[in-house]
Amino acid sequence: MAKQNKAFKFRLLPNKEQSALLAKTFGCVRFVYNKMLAERKETYEKFKDDKELLKKQKFPTPAKYKSEFPFLKEVDSLALANAQMNLQTAYKNFFEGNADFPKFKNRKAKQSYTTNMVNGNIKLENGHIKLPKIKKPIKMKQHREIPADYKIKSCTISKTKTGKYYISILTEYEKDIRPVKIQKVVGLDFAMDGLYVESEQGKKANYPRYYRQALDKLAKAQRILSRRKKGSARWNKQRLVVAKLHEKVANQRMNFLHHKSKELASNFDAVVIEDLNMKGMSQALHFGKSVHDNGWGMFNTFLAYKLKEQGKQLVKIDKWFPSTKKCSCCGKEKEMPLSERVYKCSCGFVLDRDHNSAINIKNEGLRLLALS
Ligand SMILES: [Zn+2]
Repeated sequence: MAKQNKAFKFRLLPNKEQSALLAKTFGCVRFVYNKMLAERKETYEKFKDDKELLKKQKFPTPAKYKSEFPFLKEVDSLALANAQMNLQTAYKNFFEGNADFPKFKNRKAKQSYTTNMVNGNIKLENGHIKLPKIKKPIKMKQHREIPADYKIKSCTISKTKTGKYYISILTEYEKDIRPVKIQKVVGLDFAMDGLYVESEQGKKANYPRYYRQALDKLAKAQRILSRRKKGSARWNKQRLVVAKLHEKVANQRMNFLHHKSKELASNFDAVVIEDLNMKGMSQALHFGKSVHDNGWGMFNTFLAYKLKEQGKQLVKIDKWFPSTKKCSCCGKEKEMPLSERVYKCSCGFVLDRDHNSAINIKNEGLRLLALS
C-alpha cells in the first residue's frame, strides 16, 4: 500500500464575521513573516562573512512576538507556524544558491494562509468546514465529495484580487497501486502555439477558441487600464475588470489542462515527454511570458499524478535528445531551422516537423522503458 496525496479545491463563502477573521489571519501571517525576515536580515548583514555562524543561528519563532503583539494570539497559531516554515524554506533556498534573498510581503502580495490538521481541529460537515479559531464552520461550495478514507492533512485558505475565497484541502490516502503492463505509449512534442503535438496521429492539442478569445479580451482590458490615471476611480474600476478576466483565463486554462491530461492518462499506459526547463527556455529564447502561460509545467504535474495513481508512467527524456534533428524513419540526423515546418530526409521520408519530433520522443521513451 502506498500513501498518496490529493488536493481538493473549493470556493469558500464566509459570512461577514468570518471574512473579518480571515482578513486578520492573512494580516498576522504577513506581519509575523516580515518580522522574522527583518530579524534574519539584520543578522545576515552583521555576519555575512561567517556562513557557518549564520547557519547555526536559531530561527526566530512566532511565539516570541506574542507578548509584544497580543493580537497575534487571536488568530490560528498553526498559520503563524507555517509562515515560519515558509520563510525557513525561502532562506534555505537562498543559502543553497537556488533563490534570491527572501522579500518582504506587502499588502498587495497574495493573501493566503495554511493550517494543519491537529487532533481533529478541522472538520467537514454538510457543506461547511470547521477551521481552527473560527467559531462557526464556513460554508463551502463543495462540488465533489472527499472519500471517507481520505485523511485531511492541511488546508490553504486564500483570497483572490476580486475578493473570492478558496480553500485547498490536502488529503492523504492509502492505495494499492499495481504497475500496469505497458502496451500503449504516446510521445508528446511541446508546442509553443498550442500545448503539444502527439506521436500517434500528429494531432496538435490546441487551446479552445473560447480560451483564446478570453485572452484577447484580457489583453484589450489591460491596454485600457494602462491608459487610465493610476489611482483614479476609473483606473480602480478597470483594475477589477482585469483581475476578473485574469481569474477567468487561469481557470479556463487549468480546466483544459486537466481535461487533456486525463484523456492521455486514460488512453495510454505511458506518456513520454521532454524534460524541458521552461524557465531557462523562456529566458534563452526571449519568449518571456508566452511559454509560462502555455501551462506546460502545470500540465506535466497533472499528467504525472494522473498516470501514477493508475500505476502508469510518465517518462521524461533528456532535454538534449535531438528530437527535432532526427529522422524518425531511418535515424539519420540533420539541421532543422525553425522555419522548416516539414521534415524531409534523404531516405525519402517526409513528415510534419513536430509530428516527426513526437515520434522520436516516443521511440526514445520506448528505449528507456525497455531498459528499466
Ligand atoms: Zn530518414
